[in-house]
Amino acid sequence: MPTYTPPLRDMQFVLHEVFNVADEFKAMPAHAETDADTINAVLEEAGKFAAEVAFPLNIGGDTEGCTLDVKTHAVTTPKGFKEAYAQYVEGGWPALSCDPQFGGQGLPHTVNQCVYEMLNSANQAWTMYPGLSHGAYEALVAHGTEEQKKTYLPKLVSGEWTGTMCLTEPHCGTDLGLLRTKAEPQADGSYRLTGNKIFISAGEHDMAENIVHLVLARLPDAPKGSKGISLFVVPKFKVNADGSLGERNPIFCTGLEHKMGIHGNATAQIALDGAVGSLVGEPNKGLAAMFVMMNAARLGVGNQSLGLTEVAFQNALAYAKDRIQMRSLSGVKAKDKDADPIIVHPDVRKMLLTAKAYAEGGRALQIFCTLLLDKAHHHPDEKVRKNSDELVALLTPIVKAFITDNGHISTNACMQVFGGHGFIKEWGMEQFVRDNRINMIYEGTNTVQSLDLLGRKVLGNNGATLKKFGKLIGQLVEEEGVNEKMAEFINPLAYLGDQMTKFTTEIGFKGFQNPDEVGAAAVDYLRVAGHLVFAYMFARMAQVALRKIAEGSTDPFYTAKLQTARFYFAKLFPETATLMRTARSGSKALMDTDAALA
Ligand SMILES: Cc1cc2nc3c(=O)[nH]c(=O)nc-3n(C[C@H](O)[C@H](O)[C@H](O)COP(=O)(O)OP(=O)(O)OC[C@H]3O[C@@H](n4cnc5c(N)ncnc54)[C@H](O)[C@@H]3O)c2cc1C
Repeated sequence: MPTYTPPLRDMQFVLHEVFNVADEFKAMPAHAETDADTINAVLEEAGKFAAEVAFPLNIGGDTEGCTLDVKTHAVTTPKGFKEAYAQYVEGGWPALSCDPQFGGQGLPHTVNQCVYEMLNSANQAWTMYPGLSHGAYEALVAHGTEEQKKTYLPKLVSGEWTGTMCLTEPHCGTDLGLLRTKAEPQADGSYRLTGNKIFISAGEHDMAENIVHLVLARLPDAPKGSKGISLFVVPKFKVNADGSLGERNPIFCTGLEHKMGIHGNATAQIALDGAVGSLVGEPNKGLAAMFVMMNAARLGVGNQSLGLTEVAFQNALAYAKDRIQMRSLSGVKAKDKDADPIIVHPDVRKMLLTAKAYAEGGRALQIFCTLLLDKAHHHPDEKVRKNSDELVALLTPIVKAFITDNGHISTNACMQVFGGHGFIKEWGMEQFVRDNRINMIYEGTNTVQSLDLLGRKVLGNNGATLKKFGKLIGQLVEEEGVNEKMAEFINPLAYLGDQMTKFTTEIGFKGFQNPDEVGAAAVDYLRVAGHLVFAYMFARMAQVALRKIAEGSTDPFYTAKLQTARFYFAKLFPETATLMRTARSGSKALMDTDAALA
């Protein structure tokens, strides 16, 4: 059976020692009271909930899955899910980072991010039920009418109701411009929606008394394609004027998908049969409104894989210390045993350190990014808000795709550490691999993320935002460029930073002549950009660790951090050279292959 220990020390290191979040919050009136003690206390409590309530339900949820009663359209979640959710609501967790004007506790996103990392480690399938509500909340805060905010936000914030995002239809996932669900305006100003949605996470369940669906649909006179999509809020139960629940709205779960992982989460087929909804935002501008939700969700998906990477690492490490097989190549290590623990073998270490480095780099990036999000929302200086917002936009596809791809590499590596036992269900490792796999697909596949990064976020503004990130690297290089002890971290970072401009210009130039060149390079490009960002994170972490050691600290945490950073630069970062080479090889070997694919 797997175990899970919340990585509070590493979170505190990143939050307080690397990014000094409490000082940053002091500059934001909305968060000025959030000090380090408050953050630590919240994370400790959340860690207990994750480890003691959500984690014990993870394997059962996977085995049991959700069930649908086709007659009543009711979905039953696995044993214990409902009770855990009630406890979560009772503890006030859904409200943590929500706006106090809607009943929230107003804590920074950065804190919520860490809470969610732990919940995802503990039980990704369960965590998606409250997780989806955050996206619905964000979309309604940004685009809802006063009436919609009053009706839905307090209940989403308290967790009494949950949210969903209903985009996908059988014939369209990536290309939402093809969607067919119709919305007919009614005389009373409402709309009646008809159509079929598929793959809707947390689309139906027994954990909350109402479900607030945010649905993309087309108005009768809408232009074709993505410019003709509008966003609607469609509750499972209609809401009376006094806020009480009214009659059942005809938005029904008609089937549940049988899938590779996250079995505890209901992936629902949803039929809308004249369901009553109200328009969110402007007609035909639904995709833009939905993007608020999707961007929040993309950061959330990166966080899912961060959680799985961490829990897989913890279990693989414990196993590698315990399992004895063969002797070390460099001589017997455990003389009192018949064989050495497998952690002595170089490749086992490589697998463990890969997961460790991807977890620690991912944690630093997620915290860095959500701190920017807090600044974008709450910093008093407009310039800082704008700058932070732009950086979040640049980093979002990297968080989503790089961290989930790394989650795939890491959970597989950790399963491999177990040998054949990793493939056997009882150890829990294969579940981490299966659960992680969807993170590379939903919320826009990782290919789509790479096109968003290279096409829109980088080439779309002539590399202006990338240069902003480059400036941060430049500052660090300037600070530490003469520090010999930092050279092993700073030099590769500075080198890649320099190369990035030329690399980007080259692809941009080729793409200008032939757009397929961008499509052919994008996935490799995103991975290179991911390493650029991780290298910056590891250099910042190494900087702090070296300072602490120089100040006389003997805490082994800092030595471990340096060793992980060294591993990262020696064994993971160098793939950037190959990636740049394959990106530069262009589109010809892909697009001139009709005979090969005939
Ligand atoms: C378990 C699960 C939960 C989900 N939850 C939700 C949810 O809550 N709400 C919701 O609305 N949807 C949800 N989805 C749907 C999910 O977001 C889509 O499956 C995903 O966006 C991909 O769409 P698709 O499956 O139609 O694949 P397609 O769009 O058909 O893509 C097929 C392949 O083509 C590639 N491709 C497509 N277009 C391009 C392009 N322009 N350039 C390069 N490659 C391209 C894709 O990357 C992919 O590899 C969920 C899906 C699953 C499986």
